[in-house]
Amino acid sequence: MESSDRIGEKLSDRQKYDFKRALEEIRNLHGRGTELISVYVPPGKQISDVAAYLRGEYSQSSNIKSQSTRKAVMGAIQSILSRLKLYKRPPANGVVFFVGEVPKVGDQTRTAQFVLEPPEPITTFLYRCDSEFYLEPLLDMLEEKRSYGLIVIDRSEATIGLLKGKRVQIIKNIQSLVPSKHRMGGQSALRFERLIEIAAHEFYTKVANTATEAFVSNKELKGLLIGGPGPTKEYFNGSDYLHYELQKKVIGTFDVGYTDEYGLRELVEKAKDKLEDLDLMREKRLIQRLLEEIRRSDGGLAAYGEDEVRRNLDLGSVDVLLLSEGLRKHRISMDCSSCGRKSTLTADKVPDEVKCPNCGAQTEIKSDVDIIDEFYEVADRMGTRVELISTDSEEGEMLVAAFGGIAAILRFRTGG
Ligand SMILES: [Zn+2]
Repeated sequence: MESSDRIGEKLSDRQKYDFKRALEEIRNLHGRGTELISVYVPPGKQISDVAAYLRGEYSQSSNIKSQSTRKAVMGAIQSILSRLKLYKRPPANGVVFFVGEVPKVGDQTRTAQFVLEPPEPITTFLYRCDSEFYLEPLLDMLEEKRSYGLIVIDRSEATIGLLKGKRVQIIKNIQSLVPSKHRMGGQSALRFERLIEIAAHEFYTKVANTATEAFVSNKELKGLLIGGPGPTKEYFNGSDYLHYELQKKVIGTFDVGYTDEYGLRELVEKAKDKLEDLDLMREKRLIQRLLEEIRRSDGGLAAYGEDEVRRNLDLGSVDVLLLSEGLRKHRISMDCSSCGRKSTLTADKVPDEVKCPNCGAQTEIKSDVDIIDEFYEVADRMGTRVELISTDSEEGEMLVAAFGGIAAILRFRTGG
């Protein structure tokens, strides 16, 4: 399971966005009756078993009373069966089929068909026939998969764990050998104190070394949380035990009652608000930087609006391209057959007909791509960093409302 989890983590922002958009489209489809089929095939499943299952459903569905629903369900199952033939075995993460009749205009319907290879492995085989497509397992895969290191510690025990998405994983539990306060007979108080200090030092060193092993090479690690019932956590955090790379990642210390696995969960619960804030903070900071630049009298190192940002992108002057996840636009390109001019335009919806901006003749649409995908491609080519900004913060909303969802922080000003 570990290695496949990592595949999910490496999913780029853009892949995630594309997957999200596909799910959005599928989510908006509704059948007239219970006639939309969802089939989830996990990587370990035999294709022949899936086909056998579907054939069983096919014969069952001949009992459906409504003629149109029966026809639709049988048609959908047949279509999935024929698509299944293209596979010898399921792809690495499995495959999902969504097929069904959805309303078009008036009485007409069209067949909606989607075949998705998910970013993470499908865990269970599932067949569902409903008036909507069943998306929950895929939506779960879009959940944030950032990880945070966890340490709960007092003088007698420490537990080290990892928070990955919403899952807490124990890495190691360490019991300390620090003697309890009761001194053994024959020891001087001073000698006893000294023994305690040595044992405590060894314990902290061991905890820190375990943390180094577990976290330093983890590139996905966004931060480190330290918890515990007493002042030990602050002492541990304040001393130089932790690897310097990890010291920089400490988000904070939190009071929790336990230092075992239960303590790890408590720690995550206590830090939840802070972690959510951190995600939003990054986005807020970027937009605030943009606004600061815009406020400068010379216009600063900022550009906004589609045309201005495009111009700067082409000049290679964009440092960070800021795109709102709320952008819903099409980039349409045309080839005019009358005058030969190639042109592009941006539209909220794909227009029924387009005219050549050069000669005015009606032209055909050559391609239609999501504007975010198109911007990503240009940015890739120019080696420009792209940040997708959610609409969950005030600043994120402002990016859409004030700047049309497209802005850039520049490396240098280009005039114009
Ligand atoms: Zn033309």
